[in-house]
Amino acid sequence: MVGEIGAAITSLKTAFDIAKSINDLVKNAEVQAAVMGLQQKILEAQSSALSANERDDQLRRQIEALSAEVTSLKNWDAEKAKYDLLELDPGFYGFVLKDEERGQQPYFALCPNCFEANKKSILHQSPDLNVNLRTWSCAACNSSYGIRARNMKTLIERARGVSE
Ligand SMILES: [Zn+2]
Repeated sequence: MVGEIGAAITSLKTAFDIAKSINDLVKNAEVQAAVMGLQQKILEAQSSALSANERDDQLRRQIEALSAEVTSLKNWDAEKAKYDLLELDPGFYGFVLKDEERGQQPYFALCPNCFEANKKSILHQSPDLNVNLRTWSCAACNSSYGIRARNMKTLIERARGVSE
């Protein structure tokens, strides 16, 4: 497609140059007017061939961007499948790596808000003035959950029914 358009642009330039040399040779005003009309048509054809070329480039760029997006969504789907949504405490949810996916990684939970928006953001524990309470918050979306003091390992194991 691009090659064909390129060839058309080259042919049109040649046709324009031929028309110009005819115009330079011929002194008859009517012939000159006709040749100028022809040159005008050639310029119009060149311009539409050029915009077809640009449209072609634009479509190719759009296709590239869309395939990159499809790839990233496929990768995210694969990543998403490694997590379970757990209720870590009443009303406190987090996406947690399945046991078989965890390997040597520490226990952590991902923010459910961000996860639903195709983003991974680890919930962090902030110290609370009350020693019996802990606040878990997401730095990306600022959601936070106040619960009784427990570390993430305990919360996960309890949610999975491993302990307590
Ligand atoms: Zn978040």
